[in-house]
Amino acid sequence: MPYGYRYGYAIDPTYILVLIGALISMFASMRVKSTFHKYAKVRSRTNMTGAQAAQRVLNSAGIYDVTIRHVAGELTDHYDPRNKTLNLSDSVYGSTSVAAVGVAAHECGHAIQHHKGYSPLQLRSALVPVANLGSSAAWPLIILGILFGGAGSFVCKIGIVLFSAAVLFQIVTLPVEFNASARAVRILGDIGILSEQELPGTKKVLKAAALTYVAGAAAAILQLLRLVMLFGGRDRD
Ligand SMILES: [Zn+2]
Repeated sequence: MPYGYRYGYAIDPTYILVLIGALISMFASMRVKSTFHKYAKVRSRTNMTGAQAAQRVLNSAGIYDVTIRHVAGELTDHYDPRNKTLNLSDSVYGSTSVAAVGVAAHECGHAIQHHKGYSPLQLRSALVPVANLGSSAAWPLIILGILFGGAGSFVCKIGIVLFSAAVLFQIVTLPVEFNASARAVRILGDIGILSEQELPGTKKVLKAAALTYVAGAAAAILQLLRLVMLFGGRDRD
């Protein structure tokens, strides 16, 4: 039986890893919100909205078949490669702030990656079904494994391998996100949507957003580590 198991599952000592992951994620999410709100008050010199800036950025990259849409929510912005839509949230679509323009351009960065066949994005897309299977089937398998074979049983290990696939997906997401932001900042400067004075604020917003993905990946790795410690090894009973 793994160490700590006798205390019950929820309070075993390795649970600290989950707590650390949750704290990192919480901190990153608070930080992106506060940074976004700070620069959402800074209006850009060109007075272009997020949607208008996105159109300009896409066109500058030779992309004319992406539809820009307004979606509800806060920080729900995303590019959907399946129907080539750029979805901009309430505080981005119609806002002229340096934060809004930055987020809009970041999503354009994903559209450009898709357009150009950027390989980390292709790898990420290929991993989607595996990651979905991993996040839905990993826990049931681990629990079944514990019930019928004990910790460290074959079924448990399959569950952990599936969980690893979901973790891998989050790791592959990192270069995709950093690259989209780098493209965004470069193009915004190149085509003159933001000035040299405005770019640092936009960069801070995008960096804070990227850190949420780093935090997510770190939390997932910590969870995986915990699973391996608890259920991955041989049963020591
Ligand atoms: Zn992104």
